Amino acid sequence: MTNSEQDRWSRVKGRLRSTVGEDVYTSWFARMDLEAVQNESVHLSVPTRFLKSWIQAHYAERVLSCWQAEMPEVHRIDLSVRTAMRCATPVKEAPVAVEARRAERNDNRLATSADTRTASAAASLATSHDALGGSPLDPRLTFASFVVGRANTLAHAAARQVADGRRGDPVMFNPLYIHAGVGLGKTHLLQAVTWAGNAGGERKVLYLTAEKFMYGFVAALKSQTALAFKEALRGIDVLVIDDLQFLQGKSTQAEFCHTLNALIDAGRQVVIAADRPPSDLESLDDRVRSRLAGGLVVEMGSLGEDLRLGILKSRVAAARAHHASFDVPEPVLDYLARSITHNGRDLEGAINRLLAHSKLNNQPVTLDMAEREVRDLVRPQEPKRIKIEDIQRVVARQYNVSRSDLLSSRRTANVVRPRQVAMYLAKTLTLRSLPEIGRRFGGRDHTTVLHAVRKIEALVGKDIALNDEVESLKRQLQD
Ligand code: ADP
Ligand code: MG
Repeated sequence: MTNSEQDRWSRVKGRLRSTVGEDVYTSWFARMDLEAVQNESVHLSVPTRFLKSWIQAHYAERVLSCWQAEMPEVHRIDLSVRTAMRCATPVKEAPVAVEARRAERNDNRLATSADTRTASAAASLATSHDALGGSPLDPRLTFASFVVGRANTLAHAAARQVADGRRGDPVMFNPLYIHAGVGLGKTHLLQAVTWAGNAGGERKVLYLTAEKFMYGFVAALKSQTALAFKEALRGIDVLVIDDLQFLQGKSTQAEFCHTLNALIDAGRQVVIAADRPPSDLESLDDRVRSRLAGGLVVEMGSLGEDLRLGILKSRVAAARAHHASFDVPEPVLDYLARSITHNGRDLEGAINRLLAHSKLNNQPVTLDMAEREVRDLVRPQEPKRIKIEDIQRVVARQYNVSRSDLLSSRRTANVVRPRQVAMYLAKTLTLRSLPEIGRRFGGRDHTTVLHAVRKIEALVGKDIALNDEVESLKRQLQD
């Protein structure tokens, strides 16, 4: 593209910017590129299908007239979708020369659409909830019923911070990304943020499951006349998305990525929950992942016994609000907290069963009854998942070396043996492959790992002291 074409394109963008206004311009046109100008037609591209259909439906004339103001011979605009996804780093516009903009502002041939804009903004605020189909909220999932313990202190504090923010406050971390396994309280925490954030009426917090998010886009794409999803999203202060791991499909992801960028760049808060860290969302583009990881990423750990007991008590208290005669004696609570170790859903299920049983049979809850009723929820302990970092930490401590010694290339005996032991444990206690283990030990070759594993295997057969050390390390790791 020639310089003069580039200049002309900048002027067209300047015109567009002043006709639609800064807000609309950045939402819809900031990522529009000029591909080519051929005779009477101009070929432009945008990163997503959604943007394309929106611009075509609402701004086609405007774009054409801005071109015609610069090039009267243009009669056609072709808009296409770029295949490469532009994401993590928001594409910043080169600033349009101030001179050009000033000239534009005095140009009264370009009627602005300010009136239609304010009207549509107000309408979008009013209808956004309906249009977006915010996912239903469970009134029980609030901060009041959320029990804080070691596993979730940080996630809870961050969520509280988001919920307590005021409109216009600087956003401290964006997005807030919370991940944890099934039943560990992600949905509870996200809905608590939504309830609390909406409580004052000042801000608008929207809670969507990833499915709803996908459905919203599809619906918006199909009904060009309805207020589109994206437009409506602009009226939202905090967007909360649950179960992001279910977000599927290339084009949905592109839209998600675009929305994420638009919201974050506009200083809106985004809160996300998923069952894995951003780096493990395999189906997402690298740049989306890095944008997700760019805020605050917090993991909620498995529920410790205290936390489980707290949750059980909170559930019983909630049940008692409707069933005053229902009571669960302390020993039963202890038993449940000790034996139902998997997740919050099973804890909830256990209380529901005890409640149903005691109501139907008109009997008080006893330990016997509890044992019978929840038997199937008490699963044998799954073997603990051991991480390579844990192995390195425990081995380093045992042999009084540092973890970086284990990863280093130092070959002194006091480091070599512990390193071999650690690699051996990594091979026998985890499912990691030899190359993977090599990578995690300072980028070593898999043959080095194999050598270490064989060496230690051979040694524990005859060196009793070493055998004891290895057994003790295993116990430390498995408890
Ligand atoms: P996730 O979305 O992570 O799968 P949920 O938020 O649906 O898990 O939690 C499962 C159940 O456990 C819900 O009934 C929830 O209220 C309860 N729960 C989990 N963590 C807590 C907690 N910290 N305090 C109170 N209830 C909890
Ligand atoms: Mg959930």
